[in-house]
Parts: sequence; C-alpha cells; structure tokens
Amino acid sequence: TRKFFVGGNWKMNGSKKDVNTLVSMLNNATFSDVEVVVAPPALYLSTVRTELNSNIEVAGQNAYYVSKGAYTGEVSPEMLKDMGINWVILGHSERRDIFRESDEVVAKKVKHALDTGLGVIACCGEKLEEREAGQTTAVVFRQLKAISDLVQDWSKIVIAYEPVWAIGTGKVATPQQAQDVHDSIRQWLSENVSPAAAEATRIIYGGSVNGGNCNELAGCPDVDGFLVGGASLKPEFVNIINAKI
Ligand code: 13P
Repeated sequence: TRKFFVGGNWKMNGSKKDVNTLVSMLNNATFSDVEVVVAPPALYLSTVRTELNSNIEVAGQNAYYVSKGAYTGEVSPEMLKDMGINWVILGHSERRDIFRESDEVVAKKVKHALDTGLGVIACCGEKLEEREAGQTTAVVFRQLKAISDLVQDWSKIVIAYEPVWAIGTGKVATPQQAQDVHDSIRQWLSENVSPAAAEATRIIYGGSVNGGNCNELAGCPDVDGFLVGGASLKPEFVNIINAKI
C-alpha cells in the first residue's frame, strides 16, 4: 500500500516572519499515516529544517546535476543533504517554462539527486493547448521517459502530475481527469519501469488543490497525495494533509 503523500511547494514566497508562522502551523498540526514534505525557498531551508518537527520532511525546490564547482547561483543535491534536507522537487512546470529546463536537464537532475540519496518529487504535466490537442499522455510519457532513460530505481521518486492549466489558476482538474491521467501513468510505469514500481510509486496531483476540493480528489484510487502551491501557505494546508480519511 502506498502511504499518502502531501507536499507543500511554497515557491518564491515568504519572509522570516511568514516562515515562523508556517512552521508553527505545521508543528501544531495533527496527522497520522501521511508523509508530509514542505519546500521553502532555498534561503529558508536551513531555518525550516532546524525549527520544524522531525516528523515533517523538507525539500528543495530545485537542485543542479553537478556536486560543486563554477555554477553561479546554483545549489547541489549534496548541499541539500549536508543541511539535512532529504527531498527535492524537480521538473516543476515553472522551472521548465520560465527557466527553460528541458526534459533532458530535468532527467539529469533527477538522476544526480537520487545518486546523492535524496527523494525526488518529479513533476510532469501538459499545457492547456496540449490537452486540447489530445496530447496529454504523450507529453507526460515523454517527460517520464527522459527520466527512465537515466534512472532504473524509482523507489525514491514520487511523481507529481501537475497539469499546467490547473497551476495557480483556481481551475482544479476534476477527480475523473486526475484519475484518468494517474491511471495512465501507472500503466506507463508498469510497462516501462516494472509492475512492482507501478504498484509502489506514489502519483500525487497538483494544481489548485485546496481545503474544499482535496477530499474528493483524495478518494480517487490512483491519487496518492498532493503537491500544493498557494494553499500550502494557508491554514487549510492542514486540512489537505488530512484529506484522506
Ligand atoms: P497551486 O496549488 O498554487 O495551483 O500550485 C500547484 C503547484 O504548482 C505545486 O507545485
């Protein structure tokens, strides 16, 4: 059985004051049987790791595919590990679109992060025009294949399906839309990685998840959790953590 997984992607939001508020909120939250991982901006990772209860994990929002060297502005997986950060989000659509990360760059990052011992939340998802052109699974499979070309062991990967049209738009995927793509991803895993990986890998949904829509989505058989943006900065994140009852 796959343990429910809820990630909070704070994106480029927060201040020292906000970070304190969010850490208190999380430390006071009660939950069981769910894996919770929050991803603050890089500058706050260390503070959050120090202040946060140990039953909540912390993730970077990005990491480069080289250990160290002349790569101004970058952070390596080794540095995250060094600071007690055990997870990283890779291939988020904002990284792909705004910062021009290709499928191949994302795949190299996933490979290096896994080699370093991090857990990886690997993001995939189609744009609106791709969905409307009937290319949803083709796009998602292409993004995943780039990873499977470099990575055999998927045991430390959580797949986040985040349709780009649902991110930050308030336009959440319907439970049926999410379930359909998650089911397709699981079949893809079965055929391209292994049936065991398909059974064990968490496939989480992201895109306008909130306290009001999380319960219905959590009821889908192939929705194993969420990656939450905007609502992870609000008290309702605690409700989302507890969405699967
Ligand atoms: P929102 O929840 O704000 O739509 O963002 C989703 C997301 O991109 C999480 O990584």
